Amino acid sequence: MEFHIRMAVFSLDKSAFIAHTPSMDLFDPIPSRASKANISAFAEQVSVGIGLTRGAMLEPVVARMGGKIVYKTPQRMDGKLPESIVVRSGNDFTIFLPSITSLVRDRFTIAHELGHLFIHYPMVAKQCPGAAMRATRWVDPSNADLQRTEWEANWFAASFLMREKDFRAAYAQTSDIKQLASMFVVSEQSASIRAESLGLQ
Ligand SMILES: [Zn+2]
Repeated sequence: MEFHIRMAVFSLDKSAFIAHTPSMDLFDPIPSRASKANISAFAEQVSVGIGLTRGAMLEPVVARMGGKIVYKTPQRMDGKLPESIVVRSGNDFTIFLPSITSLVRDRFTIAHELGHLFIHYPMVAKQCPGAAMRATRWVDPSNADLQRTEWEANWFAASFLMREKDFRAAYAQTSDIKQLASMFVVSEQSASIRAESLGLQ
């Protein structure tokens, strides 16, 4: 499975890498330009590969992968929340979450940051071996490449948390967005967008 292959490649890099060096250059994520369908299919593969079940907590998943989650108090209240990921290697990364956001938002953010790890980090590692990557959820609206990476990470997150088969099965039980959101532990907005993108609504 692609997921395992990628993780194996990641592990090889780690020994050549000095983690936590403050002066280390941080590279931006590089867009894959893969289609939404391909990214969704890939996210589902990863989700199945790590054995994620509907509504399961993501923190243990991150820990198993060698990642850390750090909560930060926002310094500024201008909408630029400190939601980001710093990837030092495929099994050494930190996800930063604001201390003031909701469980469902944090959960989507974790899935989104894992999207950067799985989609964009391999591209950065290939172009600049040994480089660390930082992706922030807030990006400059005039930077089209970074905006694209945000879309890709969002597509990844939606399919990772709400796999098509599971979502269709749940939808067959109830079309109530509130209930679907609570089954998958996502926001009603995320559940609604997912229902729409699967042509259910
Ligand atoms: Zn992002």
